Amino acid sequence: MKIAIASGKGGTGKTTIATNLAASISRTGLRVQYLDCDAEEPNGHIFLKPVIESREDVTVGVPEVDEQKCTGCGKCGRLCQYSAITCIKEKVLVFEELCHSCGGCMAICPEGAIKEIQRRIGIAEFGKSDGIAFGHGKLNIGAIQTPAIIKFVKQKAPNKAITILDVPPGTSCPVIEAVKGSDFVLLVTEPTPFGLNDLKLAVGMVRELKLPFAVALNRSDIGDESVLQYCAEENIDVILEIPNDRLIAEAYSQGFMIIDALGGYQQAFSQLYQKIKARVAVQ
Ligand code: SF4
Ligand code: SF4
Repeated sequence: MKIAIASGKGGTGKTTIATNLAASISRTGLRVQYLDCDAEEPNGHIFLKPVIESREDVTVGVPEVDEQKCTGCGKCGRLCQYSAITCIKEKVLVFEELCHSCGGCMAICPEGAIKEIQRRIGIAEFGKSDGIAFGHGKLNIGAIQTPAIIKFVKQKAPNKAITILDVPPGTSCPVIEAVKGSDFVLLVTEPTPFGLNDLKLAVGMVRELKLPFAVALNRSDIGDESVLQYCAEENIDVILEIPNDRLIAEAYSQGFMIIDALGGYQQAFSQLYQKIKARVAVQ
């Protein structure tokens, strides 16, 4: 079973819920893996403290032009939607950092002057954390191919365990890549107008992808009732509520898990897993 923990915006407690859910499942004796797909800012390792056992460079294909073959026709530049290759005065310039590796310029070049070379965009690391298989991707500063690194981490991770995917915030391409293939998406939000706005965007995304989902409400006793009202009107289940507790904030700031720092949360997260499992079973 693949469970994606997502959020329409950052700072809602998504990683807190993802890491505690993974650890609580592991402590019941089940095999679980945690994959941090928030490749621009992965921080699940701060809480799970994994021992890294392997590292792999993540690369993407980018074009390299053979000036001897190029006639300067400009077809490659006119095709590229990202201005990553352009032809100026019959000289072709490649901006690798803008390339989305679509391969279009290589396919269209009438002279066969463009070949693909590999460009390193980041690193993927895999290891173990107290019985949990751990994996995360780290995108290089300035690199933009987040979906490629997420895809790499998901493909390389062992696939024989309950998988918790810590999804990047938002609703853009990296989020789609991270939640793709999930059995269930847990949308984490807060009961504030900003939380409601971003939850609506996230709900729109998972409905478009036809993925089963429910909501987790973090800092549930702040803000207003608008998120709960919206969920009631839209028949969306709220299956976890975590109150605004100073002890939780202290545990978070010190890199501790809630299930270790506060009594009752191991059970709360085990129940969360059972609720998700029951919902996946009826799909
Ligand atoms: S591979 Fe695609 S994105 Fe990259 S330069 Fe060529 S056409 Fe542009
Ligand atoms: S399409 Fe090929 S031949 Fe034409 S400008 Fe680009 S690299 Fe040169």
